[in-house]
Amino acid sequence: MRFLHFGTPVAVRSQSCRSRAPARHPERPVRYWCRDGSMSVVATIRCANCSATNRVPREKLEQGFKARCGRCKRPLPVAAAAPLTVTDATFSAAVEQSPLPVLVDAWAAWCGPCRMIARMVDELAAELVGQVRVAKLNVDENPATASRFAIRSIPTLLVIAGGREVDRIVGVQSKSAIRARLERVLTSPRR
Ligand SMILES: [Zn+2]
Repeated sequence: MRFLHFGTPVAVRSQSCRSRAPARHPERPVRYWCRDGSMSVVATIRCANCSATNRVPREKLEQGFKARCGRCKRPLPVAAAAPLTVTDATFSAAVEQSPLPVLVDAWAAWCGPCRMIARMVDELAAELVGQVRVAKLNVDENPATASRFAIRSIPTLLVIAGGREVDRIVGVQSKSAIRARLERVLTSPRR
């Protein structure tokens, strides 16, 4: 079994990835430039054993690496990786250049139905680790992306694959309905 023997920013540097934007805000995605020139988007996972917050390159988790806590060395619960918060600034790298299809939850704080969707989206993020990247876009704080995708009502879920929008779910749906739409994209021969 392949283990990533890092979880901390220090250890990430030993993988020849260097941080371009140290995280002052824990939800903001940290990006690392890697040896091969690609950019890595980081998942934040709290250790269930010692409560240390670990930053792990999301691509590695999606490729099936297991992560260990940088402090106590216990395995990290990969499924606990929260959806990725994306912004106008990070949307292109984190969503449009993602190697995996991305489910983007477009939401706003004042939107009640968005909270129902958020719960399902959190669960789908854990269930579909390695198959679908799950991202959250606050439309109030990121008007450029919301306008580029002509998001007129929320909650809206965008499904982006290969940099293109391949599906869109508007309004509240059941989790099984959302999952079925994602599975259709995952099994599509065009991917
Ligand atoms: Zn720990």
